[in-house]
Amino acid sequence: MAHDVVLIPGDGIGPEITTAMRRVVDASGAQIVWHVAEAGAAQIERVGTPLPPETLELVRELGVAIKGPVTTPVGTGFRSVNVALRQAFDLYACVRPCRSLPGDGSRFRDVDLVIVRENTEDLYAGIEFAPDAPEVAELARLVEASGQRPFRAGSAISVKPISEEGSRRIVTYAFEYARAHGRRKVTAVHKANIMKATDGLFLRVAREVAALYPDIAFEDKIVDACCMGLVQDPTRFDVLVLPNLYGDIVSDLCAGLVGGLGMAPGANIGADCAVFEATHGSAPDIAGRDLANPTAEILSAAMMLDHLGETEAAARVRAAVTATLAEGTSVTADVRLAQTGSAEGAVGTAAFANAVITHLA
Ligand code: NAD
Repeated sequence: MAHDVVLIPGDGIGPEITTAMRRVVDASGAQIVWHVAEAGAAQIERVGTPLPPETLELVRELGVAIKGPVTTPVGTGFRSVNVALRQAFDLYACVRPCRSLPGDGSRFRDVDLVIVRENTEDLYAGIEFAPDAPEVAELARLVEASGQRPFRAGSAISVKPISEEGSRRIVTYAFEYARAHGRRKVTAVHKANIMKATDGLFLRVAREVAALYPDIAFEDKIVDACCMGLVQDPTRFDVLVLPNLYGDIVSDLCAGLVGGLGMAPGANIGADCAVFEATHGSAPDIAGRDLANPTAEILSAAMMLDHLGETEAAARVRAAVTATLAEGTSVTADVRLAQTGSAEGAVGTAAFANAVITHLA
């Protein structure tokens, strides 16, 4: 059966890695009809927004998309297209498996953990006020009236909303995921010792949900201690559930445990829609030079194939990636550098995809 999928190449290394991914998926035996849609800075001139309405419409209509990364200007400029997509389709669960692969170049072995990141609220909600915004003065009055310590004049303010509903559905997702995938433990990650209202709520709800799953072990960890534990012995962790910002940061940390950002796939899941994408960004430092590692994007496609019910094709893709890395003769510069301290003998993005295709059984 053929599946209609939206393909958003994105920018930076996006077009290179999505081309590689598409070739591998097409060779896997899965029948995918690709509907290419655009997003990113180049669209602003054309339609006045980095996320064109026709792209949103297509994702809404087809319900499944895979995308390359999209650059977001730092400090000023338009808001993240990635965050906008997650909010537009209420893609509340960001699922990022981090698994050691042979020859991944990492100093850690046997890592097998899954990040479940809340994707719609927290400091990522985008509720922000510049220092001169009139709302800041109003907030200052509110804080003073509440009897809490006032913040400094001239402060910028970002609001951190964490809701009971948002916390309950992400922690429930993490436990359901654990059950469905034969996982033993869920760790809730927070900073509830300091942010008693927001992270305190997240932790309280996590404990309540955990009580409904006696077959799955539960623990909670403060985010800083969790980071230390992850780099000390990542094999102690299984499924981690985190509010949005900690999830973002800990995802990159965990990517580092399995060979780097080029190796870490991901999925953004909502009730009616799913958008698959690697954990990494648009890597402008290597864009357009056939240097990017497409593994993360190809493994994101394997997650998409599972989601579409194409489990055999998904398994074939994973096995081919594993075999290519294990063989070690066709690996990209990031992996070669991690393995040997030099990028000599590395292959490009397209050649890596060719090697994976050769290994497809
Ligand atoms: P980045 O993830 O793009 O790059 C960090 C480092 O990792 C760079 O040295 C880069 O070369 C390397 N890297 C990343 N992916 C790689 C790959 N596949 N193969 C080999 N090396 C790889 O992070 P950044 O530089 O902080 O962000 C660049 C832009 O991407 C920013 O505008 C940011 O907002 C955006 N971004 C987008 C997404 C997304 O589209 N979902 C996610 C994160 C960041």
